[in-house]
Amino acid sequence: MRVPMIAGNWKMNTTVSEAVALVNGMRYELDEIDNIDKVICPPFISLAAVGGLIKGSSIKLGAQNMYFEGKGAYTGEISPLMLADLCEFVIIGHSERRQYFNETGEIVNKKILAAPKVGLKPILCIGEKLEENEAGRTEEVVTEQLRSSLAGINNLNGLVIAYEPVWAIGTGKAATGEQANETIGLIRCNIADLYNKEIAVGMRILYGGSVTAANIAEFANQPEIDGALVGGVSLKASEFLSIVKQTSEIRRRLSR
Ligand code: PEP
Repeated sequence: MRVPMIAGNWKMNTTVSEAVALVNGMRYELDEIDNIDKVICPPFISLAAVGGLIKGSSIKLGAQNMYFEGKGAYTGEISPLMLADLCEFVIIGHSERRQYFNETGEIVNKKILAAPKVGLKPILCIGEKLEENEAGRTEEVVTEQLRSSLAGINNLNGLVIAYEPVWAIGTGKAATGEQANETIGLIRCNIADLYNKEIAVGMRILYGGSVTAANIAEFANQPEIDGALVGGVSLKASEFLSIVKQTSEIRRRLSR
């Protein structure tokens, strides 16, 4: 049975003191929820402060992005080496990076190749745009993104995939549980094809896109979905806690 995961992507929100207050408002309760990986991904500038607060707890830390080079004259960038000291996970290929910062499949692939070299576990985001979905191209787009992102990767060690249909991110219009389950099943088949069945069965694949405390059960109850990447509502401690608790309980019940 795969260990479920809920990851909170805070995006470009919170100052350092706001990040500290947000973590302080949920860290003890979050720490106690078992049977699930809980990952929070604050902005770079808050990683050290948040990391200090959750040290020794069961809460894990992730970054929202990174550059693929190790060091050098890349003003303003953050390297994998810098992150490796601070966190375990790193979100790579988020649709907002692809949309606003021109991240191509090639760049995503370079990042996916760079992260494990320093022990970072990527949370690789893939997902189709609205027009692609409406044209019935979801399978084609997601398969292409997956294959180009993973080109040259022989060992998936700890990598997590987040299926995030772009039309569902930050829109309040989530996919249905069935839709997400079907596409995630397809991603798993692709992993089996690219690697092998055992790796595919062990691979954690999350859903992301307008997940809330009110709809998480719909996703957590699906057999292919191993949790969620949560954006907007991960900034609300009580709602994030509820999402984590519900997922843990549902997955415990399903594993019986
Ligand atoms: C995200 O940022 O990955 C995301 C899924 O955002 P939201 O939950 O706000 O749709």
